[in-house]
Amino acid sequence: MPEVTVIAVPAFADNYIWLISTGGTECAVVDPGDAQAVLEALDQHGLQLSSILITHHHPDHIGGMARLAEACGADVLGPHDPRIPGQSRSFSEGDQLGLPALGLEFQVIEVPGHTSSHIAFYGHGCLFCGDTLFSVGCGRLFEGTPEQMQNSLDKLAELPPETRVFCAHEYTLANCDFALQVEPENAELKRRASEVEASRAIGRSTVPSTLGEELAVNPFLRTRQPAVIAAARERKPGIEPGAQTLAVIRAWKDSF
Ligand SMILES: [Zn+2]
Repeated sequence: MPEVTVIAVPAFADNYIWLISTGGTECAVVDPGDAQAVLEALDQHGLQLSSILITHHHPDHIGGMARLAEACGADVLGPHDPRIPGQSRSFSEGDQLGLPALGLEFQVIEVPGHTSSHIAFYGHGCLFCGDTLFSVGCGRLFEGTPEQMQNSLDKLAELPPETRVFCAHEYTLANCDFALQVEPENAELKRRASEVEASRAIGRSTVPSTLGEELAVNPFLRTRQPAVIAAARERKPGIEPGAQTLAVIRAWKDSF
């Protein structure tokens, strides 16, 4: 199996664009919102771009797509959605996305909730989940229901705990502040929050985390845990674990 190297390309205020390589000169990019930032990173690392992977249609994820496809002759691979034009091939749940130039293959997981056509890519111990799952948080529900987001997060939660979670934003510090409101007694969360605070104080990235770490601290992956249900029921008595609990804490976070 090829050794996968993932390079973070920071963009805009808090986006991460991910470059995937396997030791050769070819690479793939995930969600290139900013073409210039990617072109500079390719130059800096001596990499050539062969594939562009897209998780969802938001401008900060696809803004650099057309220019990079043109400049590098790269394939554009994403979900079935006319809002993502110029795709070489579109992918659905369970499809395998092969990157022959890198010797890699990723499994496509449909994760609606943040947007209706959002997909994630899983393979080689790595999950590229766009704006669905963040470290200690999840994406806003712009086009989906709490039931859809719960179902999407349930699918991601089934991946191996050692999976590295490459989300698309550095939101972890603010997410920890909110998560501590939901679960003030969660010792693992308190530990993660101080670690994140220390990292951000020196400008260090808090991404990727592992799925196992997220399962222990991320309230949106813990909507069937008694402490999270109890916190949600204080705001809306009688709600059920799962999607109803997720709905309450997502709305709470939206106004936090
Ligand atoms: Zn988005």
